Amino acid sequence: MSTKPFQPLVVATNIEKTYRKGPVAVPVLKGVDMSVAKGELVSIIGQSGSGKSTLLHLLGTLDRPDAGEIHFEGNRIDNLAAAGRDVLRNRYIGLIFQFYHLLPELTAIENVLAPVMIRHSVLGYWAKRREYRERAKELLDTVGLGHRLNHKPRELSGGEMQRTAIARALIADPKLLLADEPTGNLDRETGEGILEVLRRLNTERGLSIIMVTHDPAIAAGADRTVNLVGGRVHTANQAAA
Ligand code: ADP
Ligand code: MG
Repeated sequence: MSTKPFQPLVVATNIEKTYRKGPVAVPVLKGVDMSVAKGELVSIIGQSGSGKSTLLHLLGTLDRPDAGEIHFEGNRIDNLAAAGRDVLRNRYIGLIFQFYHLLPELTAIENVLAPVMIRHSVLGYWAKRREYRERAKELLDTVGLGHRLNHKPRELSGGEMQRTAIARALIADPKLLLADEPTGNLDRETGEGILEVLRRLNTERGLSIIMVTHDPAIAAGADRTVNLVGGRVHTANQAAA
């Protein structure tokens, strides 16, 4: 363990979430407590349907819990209105998913730039376009794709598409990266390559990362694993890797 004090980035307390399908209530999270410190790489593991994506979406303000509280850098975020959650997410949280969600007509570098193009007015983007392009190139370089800037998704392998998605998630310089099964669609070796990229972003840039996976081998690459069983955290702490 490091000697640095635990500086909480995200603290979730007693989180409950139930989905309702007509008259049927499906309780998924039944009082989840978890916190992530600045600079940590934490994995969330659990069986299919155990609520991993649900929890990640709540931490990423994509959805709201029925009960409990979520704090980000000391500020309560679970009760923000939708507009406030959008601002928080756009500024501080990067997201990657199992199926990349790249825009097929755009090149790798254009996909990485898409979030800032959407976020700024045309003039605002134009004024800073060189800076953003440099940043996008540097990020693609960091994830090992410096030689694929102008390739479209169909010209990239699965691992390369996920690397592009990671670069895109980082273009706005978020404090937290949330990854939902980032290796779930990749073979073992390619998946380990993605894990290495995440680990490097964590150690070299201090990026805090929460990574959902159902693969214990991938989860073991994190500093710590949160195990979801029956809607609760089963084993909160594991020795640091
Ligand atoms: P995991 O990511 O661990 O596989 P999820 O969080 O996706 O699990 O889902 C947990 C449970 O909640 C599953 O039983 C799933 O069917 C249900 N569920 C997820 N999203 C919804 C939704 N939008 N509406 C109703 N049920 C849902
Ligand atoms: Mg899931």
